[in-house]
Amino acid sequence: MEIKRGIPVSPGVAIGPAFVLDTESVRIPQRFIEPGTYPDEIERLRIALREAVDEARHNQHVVAERLGEQYGAIFAAHAMMLEELGPEIEALIRSHGFTAELAVSHVMRDRAKALLGLNQPYLAARSADLYDLERRLLRHLLGHRQERLSALREKVVLLAHDLTPSETAQLDREHILAFATEIGGKTSHTAIMAGALEIPAVVGTGKFLADVSGGDQVIVDGNKGVVILSPDAETLAHYEEAQRTFVSFEQSLAKLRDQPAVTKDDVRVQLFGNIEFPTEADHCIERGAEGVGLYRTEFLYLGRKEDPSEEEHFEAYRQVVEKMGDKPVVIRTLDLGADKFSIVTDPYNEERNPFLGVRSVRLCLRNLDLFKTQLRAILRASALGNVRIMFPMISTLHELLQCKMILRDVMEDLDDQGIPFNHDMPVGTMIEVPSAAITADQLALEADFFSIGTNDLIQYTLAADRTNENVASLYNAADPAVLRLIERVVQAAAKANVEVNVCGEMSGEPIYTMLLIGMGLRQLSAAPHNIPEIKKLIRSITVKEAEQIARHVMRMDSARNITNYLREQTRCVLPEVL
Ligand code: PEP
Ligand code: MG
Repeated sequence: MEIKRGIPVSPGVAIGPAFVLDTESVRIPQRFIEPGTYPDEIERLRIALREAVDEARHNQHVVAERLGEQYGAIFAAHAMMLEELGPEIEALIRSHGFTAELAVSHVMRDRAKALLGLNQPYLAARSADLYDLERRLLRHLLGHRQERLSALREKVVLLAHDLTPSETAQLDREHILAFATEIGGKTSHTAIMAGALEIPAVVGTGKFLADVSGGDQVIVDGNKGVVILSPDAETLAHYEEAQRTFVSFEQSLAKLRDQPAVTKDDVRVQLFGNIEFPTEADHCIERGAEGVGLYRTEFLYLGRKEDPSEEEHFEAYRQVVEKMGDKPVVIRTLDLGADKFSIVTDPYNEERNPFLGVRSVRLCLRNLDLFKTQLRAILRASALGNVRIMFPMISTLHELLQCKMILRDVMEDLDDQGIPFNHDMPVGTMIEVPSAAITADQLALEADFFSIGTNDLIQYTLAADRTNENVASLYNAADPAVLRLIERVVQAAAKANVEVNVCGEMSGEPIYTMLLIGMGLRQLSAAPHNIPEIKKLIRSITVKEAEQIARHVMRMDSARNITNYLREQTRCVLPEVL
């Protein structure tokens, strides 16, 4: 038995056989193919070889242009080597039943060792080229893992080094009981997707895949962030019981669905749902959400290379707006880039620092056709219900003004065409960049509402990548710097009489509920599955107690002490949620 601790990102306990997707990019997940399946394997190899050759030729041109032909020639030689070695690799797949990965590795390593054995410095350098080519080819081969995932026929616990948000979004709940990844952070989009799909998940466990084989029994505890490999009988019995307790706690919360989120001293709080996919509007209704507080629209780019049409946008919004009736639906404009789906089609021109690059509204403001297409669809949907629009990643007032100006242009176009929409649709801005929080008083003059995106606000305030488990201890909602920024935004909003909501993952974490209410927040938007326990907590406290807690926290100086204090306070009120 081996126990690994990671970051819990989606609740629930699952027990099942391991399905190891891969380890690091250069480790080989599976060594042999099923007898008789070699034509498929050879096809996989040929695709990967083609991609690797194209990549080498592209490098050849770029390098030749920048540094001269003689440097570009290195990559021309790579392309030639790949083409020459193809038949030899194919022969191994046919004769030995090797997977394409194993065959690539054998051929490349045998060649590299032979060159090293000749003991000549020039040839030793060529052997390094072969190791490089091996890695490249493996990367291309392992890039096709989605096919392995979609071929699953039994229920498994998925274990991987990492999963991209789009891989996660396409996981099939029928077959994936839970997943655990070696890397990743609490609010990475992979984690958020897991929550949206309601698949128990733990990320950032550190290395463990070398110790597990496909089919080994695994437990994933998405409540506590624990992964247990090959559990002993006692541990297994304990977790089977935990699984039952979790299910009955969830059922007890279901009774709260139609009760309001009101404190014991009668202060009303509104709880909204965060969604990624139109079907999650049902999750919001099932969990008693009072509307959709954040509709992330990036899913429209899932698995596609071209931009979605206006009709596709509209259809996705119509479904949610109609399901929610007269309840508000906050549609956020595209927040593409960083760790989300990207529309960058040129992999050779990727940004070095995409979290600080052309992400989100920055990207929309540079691609006006794309932006206007979405704005038209949102405006058209506004004629069907209670739609609000929100711009993400606003970092300056100027950006917000630009977005509003483009929105006005689109409104004029629709008017000219006689297309109906709500002329008074509220326009909000996310506050998720420290500069926006600091200038919230100025933004408040131009926004109808604020939504504090703590996921990004934390990462940009503490300079700690939200997807990087190595800085997970720094990335903390309880950090005094983050809390001071939130306090500042709430005060600026109150002064300008602008509504303010928190829609980062922080709102779905029970330990922060009392603090946020005590800081003056009366709207929270969280993943639908978090809503019932947050509601239960709100119904168990008074605003007076919450304000006392907030006052105490704002005088504290470390995230660690604040977290301990909040945990203690929450445990006193409702121990089941911890
Ligand atoms: C946030 O940053 O808190 C947020 C809600 O937006 P996203 O997680 O989609 O970046
Ligand atoms: Mg964000």
